[in-house]
Amino acid sequence: MSRFIDFKLNKQIINALDDLEFAKPTPIQKEVIPKVLAGNDVIGIAQTGTGKTAAFLIPIVRKLNYSQGEKPRCLIIVPTRELSIQVQEHFQNIAKYTDLKIVALYGGSGKSKQIEGLNGADVIVGTPGRVLELYTERHLYLKSIQYMVIDEADMMLDMGFLPQVNRLLEIIPSKKRQNLLFSATMSPNAKKLTEDFLEYPFIVRLDSDNKIPVKIDQIVYYTSNFKTKVNLLESLLTKKDFEKVVIFLRIKGDANNLFKFIQRKIDSEAAIIHGNKEQNTRLNAIKKFKEGSSKILIATDIASRGMDVDHVSHVINFDVPSNADKYVHRIGRTGRVFSVGQAITFCNPAEKYFLKKIEDQINSKIKALPIPSDVDIPETPLEEKKNYDRLIDFQKQKENPDYKGAFHKKKKKSPKNSKKKFK
Ligand code: AMP
Repeated sequence: MSRFIDFKLNKQIINALDDLEFAKPTPIQKEVIPKVLAGNDVIGIAQTGTGKTAAFLIPIVRKLNYSQGEKPRCLIIVPTRELSIQVQEHFQNIAKYTDLKIVALYGGSGKSKQIEGLNGADVIVGTPGRVLELYTERHLYLKSIQYMVIDEADMMLDMGFLPQVNRLLEIIPSKKRQNLLFSATMSPNAKKLTEDFLEYPFIVRLDSDNKIPVKIDQIVYYTSNFKTKVNLLESLLTKKDFEKVVIFLRIKGDANNLFKFIQRKIDSEAAIIHGNKEQNTRLNAIKKFKEGSSKILIATDIASRGMDVDHVSHVINFDVPSNADKYVHRIGRTGRVFSVGQAITFCNPAEKYFLKKIEDQINSKIKALPIPSDVDIPETPLEEKKNYDRLIDFQKQKENPDYKGAFHKKKKKSPKNSKKKFK
């Protein structure tokens, strides 16, 4: 089926999809929509950027049809507040010509407005903690749930939400409940959860777990030190035609420092999101970036999970993420659905180890480009160099426990001498 009307959706949904300019279903939607409409449990293995949210929302809107009063009939569990809000917005767009009501529940923000919103809500989308909290306080009725979705299951487990998810599964009657689970990857824990949660599910898998959407052009620059990364970034951001760029870093402190640097030297409108930022600051940052008043967004991995922003032209990995899942997730912010994008990774000597592992897992070699001639490449400071050597030794030792390590050897030979030198 290559058109939405082939799914026998009603006019309200077709008109809303027209408004959204969704011309045809994406591959995951083609698979998932008919299965959900037919009443099956479904597991979808797909990253964000594939259209997976609409893949479950469209049939749910169709099945709920119109509002039936007080009790919620659908519960969607997501790992982060940003995702709650995003799924809520997506639902509202698809259900705009119906009277269905959705409420988003998430922590880090006052409860009273959310409790008010529960009145007459047909669909609840929320993080497990806040949903349980409102249930325990008797603000939320869950026995009426007929459709339950666990979205970004792998992330949910990484964040330690399994006890809360299990508790919710105990509370909500499993009889006649239709269950859907989406996950970017299928870890052993996610698999266990699917066994507890779904009954005879259909499994829809979009290519291999770590398949990169072909539309993303991937590039790596090998940089000898931190300062070169900064110079390279400055050169790229000032020269290249960046429509919208997300810059990823592993560590909050580094993200903060880079943010200040970019604000000062490159773009005073740049925005930042990471776990320590207040809820409102994070939402504002995403809003500014979505609307286009910020062209640069600096983000850490957790804060960006599931973030859905259209037309991100570039993702820059200021550092190499520690595993392939994170890499796929980061670069999946660009090239979303039917658009194209470029992912640029900066890799220092100690990060080559991770990059190699990522290349092995995604089964492709990332194209290396020479550092542009205008970029200043300063000497690596001694401390930084030592740090890389130490990390490289550590990596080699991990691979081969017999490896003694060049760095440690040197250090053992003349500990006293080296002390003297620094006096
Ligand atoms: P998701 O993978 O659910 O995060 O969706 C990624 C983006 O794709 C969102 O911005 C959706 O609005 C968009 N999208 C979903 N389905 C379609 C479609 N059939 N055609 C075009 N865009 C879509």
